[in-house]
Amino acid sequence: MKEALYTRLEELYPEMVELRRDLHRHPELSFEEVRTPRLIGEFYQKLGVKVRTEVGGRGVVAYLEGSLPGKTVALRADFDALPIQDEKDVPYQSTVPGVMHACGHDGHTSTLLFLAKALHEQKDQLPGKVVFIHQFAEEITPGGAKPMIEDGCLDGVDVLFGTHLWSGFPTGTIAYKAGQLMAAADSFEIVIKGKGGHGGIPHEAIDSIVIASQLVGNLQQIVSRFINPTRTAVLSIGSFHSGSAFNVITESATLTGTVRTFDIEIREKIVALMERIIKGTCEAAGADYSFSYNRGYPPVINHESETALLKRAAEKVEGVNHVVETEALMIGEDVAYYLKEVPGTFFLTGSRNEELNATYPHHHPRFDIDEKAMVIAAKTLGEATLTYLEQSNKSASEIYQTKR
Ligand code: MN
Repeated sequence: MKEALYTRLEELYPEMVELRRDLHRHPELSFEEVRTPRLIGEFYQKLGVKVRTEVGGRGVVAYLEGSLPGKTVALRADFDALPIQDEKDVPYQSTVPGVMHACGHDGHTSTLLFLAKALHEQKDQLPGKVVFIHQFAEEITPGGAKPMIEDGCLDGVDVLFGTHLWSGFPTGTIAYKAGQLMAAADSFEIVIKGKGGHGGIPHEAIDSIVIASQLVGNLQQIVSRFINPTRTAVLSIGSFHSGSAFNVITESATLTGTVRTFDIEIREKIVALMERIIKGTCEAAGADYSFSYNRGYPPVINHESETALLKRAAEKVEGVNHVVETEALMIGEDVAYYLKEVPGTFFLTGSRNEELNATYPHHHPRFDIDEKAMVIAAKTLGEATLTYLEQSNKSASEIYQTKR
């Protein structure tokens, strides 16, 4: 069945490209997706595959039932775009001003749709079920994953696989990692409220710029002095706004930044330490403050045995010439929510290609993918799905035989 699946995916490549380019021309922002989910829903209807729309809001979930009994594998792809102006000079450039598929989610969508089509054509030999989860709004918290799960998209699912096309690796590379793959990505805002005054009369004012400057330094001590150095975390101040005139002591200063962690315990320790240090620094100077902390997606934690299965599957796929273990990435992904509910693994499919100018980092106005990577992603997801279903069927029949 696998060989036939691969051949079919190769044949479907031109259609896969056409659909991806259509999506690329018509990107839609998170929580504003209309055309994309409609197109996905229609694709499954045309195939004759059972499909649910408006799952958790704007999500689409399709259900493929194999003719043979077995377990249920879920495959997840996201479909939202970003508020970025497309600066690529290509015929499939975005037609929507200021909106662009700059993260490859168009490729994820097309990959999953044509894998579904190829698997559907061979459902007579499929030992189990496959659930295709097309998720809206990955780019902005609170994200689409959580409401889709609450609306039942994981009901009856035994395992979940997902991939991200990745410009950090050349096409032909599959990168896996058991355990921590991506971080919890949080944001915060601190407003320091001092007392305005004349630049020449500092003793009658409370200088928010001096206090904010101390805070920038003091907050850096959290990771360096309070977190076990064998564990990891990042705290970055991303913006510092205050003041308007050279001779005025300004009343307030605003700092914003991000905290990235792999461990919820460390995250909460950092939040508590931030509060303590902000309070202490402001109190010492006689200033007031407000502190708001926004918890983003939880860390992406891949499961051990499913990651091992994915690695073995990737090694068998034609077109995959490097299967590597990746370092953890300090970015966030709401695939984390699914992996908290069911075992599974999220992996990276290299899509970098110098010849095609597909070398820019994700979220860059010139970001592009090597479209060949879609076939590799589809084959790898297909191989993992069939390996899992065949394996669990085999162990089920072994149990049956031992019982006999
Ligand atoms: Mn993405």
